[in-house]
Order: sequence, then structure tokens, then C-alpha cells
Amino acid sequence: MNTINNSLIFLGTGAAEAIPAFFCRCGYCEHARKHGGKDVRSRSAFRLNENVHIDLGPDLFHQLVKTGLDVHDLTDVLITHTHSDHLNFFEMLLKDCAVVTNGNKPVRIYVSETAYSWATGMFRQCVLGDYANDEQGYKQWQQRFPITALPYYEPASIGGYTVTPLKGTHGGYGEGEIAANYLITLPDRRIFYYASDTGYFFEETFTYLEKVKLDILVMECTFGGDESRGDYVKGHLDLKNFNLVLDRLLANGTIDQGTKVYATHINHKHPLHHDQLQDAFDRTSPVSVIVAFDGMAIE
Ligand SMILES: [Zn+2]
Ligand SMILES: [Zn+2]
Ligand SMILES: [Zn+2]
Repeated sequence: MNTINNSLIFLGTGAAEAIPAFFCRCGYCEHARKHGGKDVRSRSAFRLNENVHIDLGPDLFHQLVKTGLDVHDLTDVLITHTHSDHLNFFEMLLKDCAVVTNGNKPVRIYVSETAYSWATGMFRQCVLGDYANDEQGYKQWQQRFPITALPYYEPASIGGYTVTPLKGTHGGYGEGEIAANYLITLPDRRIFYYASDTGYFFEETFTYLEKVKLDILVMECTFGGDESRGDYVKGHLDLKNFNLVLDRLLANGTIDQGTKVYATHINHKHPLHHDQLQDAFDRTSPVSVIVAFDGMAIE
């Protein structure tokens, strides 16, 4: 069992289908199946500390076994968007079966204002099932897993962190949903930005970030070394578009050579495995970028 720090941990660094994708026999997935290690990527999730996570997807069990951690003390979950690799109510609701020693505190779930309607509708379906008219039962579930809509660009105090959702250019299952990227002030005052899923940012997001100097940037690089996607692509990033975001953030003064930058949420639809992608970042990026892997901690 690993004895890693209990904070700032990449629980998962894969995209929706993970690596090796379970239906897939492409060369990338076959390589990951054979060699394991950093090329095995579970669905993206991040642990700020034992109380606060970003996203909670279908691989939580595997991620916690791998890291030797649990979510007994989880009180707050920041959901970036409603896609199934980032939000899984069924996994959360299994807290109902747990033996707890902290008075069974509620787990508060935060979503963007554009995800709220879909998320609350899905929550209702997940908890009610065959008991569709059990309003009293439903209220109890709501109290144990309250869902809050966070307006974009408004700071909120959550679990000891100051959290501001900014807009990515990625969608979700909700009508008109725009994924939230989270700007977070850590207890040691470092400024952390978690941008997954995002794509090349909107102007309003770049503008908001002009007044911010990031200490840590975690950003998706979903399509890795795929060079066919064009420039300034919305929805998801790849190596080239990741670097285009970095160029802009550098020019705006949002990052500098001292900012720790990490790439996450990586899929199998490109030619570069972990070490090759790291080499490509080392050759092409305007600042140092670390390709994250499952279980990696940020110092
Ligand atoms: Zn995703
Ligand atoms: Zn594959
Ligand atoms: Zn997504």
C-alpha cells in the first residue's frame, strides 16, 4: 500500500473511456495492457485533501485501493461537469452502506449553474428508482447529498478553500451546460487552477485570469499527440492546443516559469505513450510541463 501525502493527488488521469479502454484493441491500449505503469489511466478525478475532491467518477474504488486512501471524511465534491467520467451518483450513494465514525456528515456536491437542472434530475432518478413517489425519502437523501449550483466567476468558501468556477469550452449532458474549471486558493495561499475538461479557453476566462498569478495549473490534454485537430480548438485540448493556451497565459502574466504545470485527462486516440508525451512537452512547451499519472501527488 502506498504511503503518499493525503493532499493534491491525481486519483485518475484518463479520459471518458480510460486506458486501456475496455472495448478497445488499438495499439495504444494493447501497449498499456501489456506494460501497465503510467500508461494505465483511470477516469479523471483529483483529491484536494481528505475532505474535498474534484469530480467523483466510476473508478473511485480502484483509485482508493491503489493509493491506500478512503473517502470516509469526504464532505465536499466539486463537479466540473456532468459527463459520466466525472460524475457518478451511484458510487456516492454507496456511503449508505458504510460504517462511519464521524456522525455521518453530509456530502455536499457542487455543480455549475448550467449543470444544476440535469444534475438534480439525475440525482432524483438515482435515489428514487422504483419508489418514484416517496417524497419523504427523497428529502432525506437530499439532506445527505445536498447539491448546490455555483455561479461562474463568483468566489465561494468550500471546505476551507476559496473556489471560483470559471468557464471551460467543454459541454456536458445538461442543456447549454458549460464545464466549470475551478480556480482555488489553497490553505497555504498557493493559487491552483484545475481545467478539465476545457478546450481552448473563452476570452472571458483568459480575461478573468489576467488578474491571477497561478502557482499550479492542472489542464487536460485529452488528445495527447494528435496533430490533426487544428488550432484554438474548443471542447478538448491536445499537445499543440495545450501549448497555445500556455502561450496565451504566459503573455497575460497568468503563469510564468515558476508555475507548476501538469497535463491530465489523456485518451488513447493518438500515438504518444506517457514517456513519449513527456518528451514532446519537453521539446515544444514554453514552460515546463509534467505529464501526470494515476496516484501522482503534487508537492
Ligand atoms: Zn472527461
Ligand atoms: Zn484504444
Ligand atoms: Zn467531458
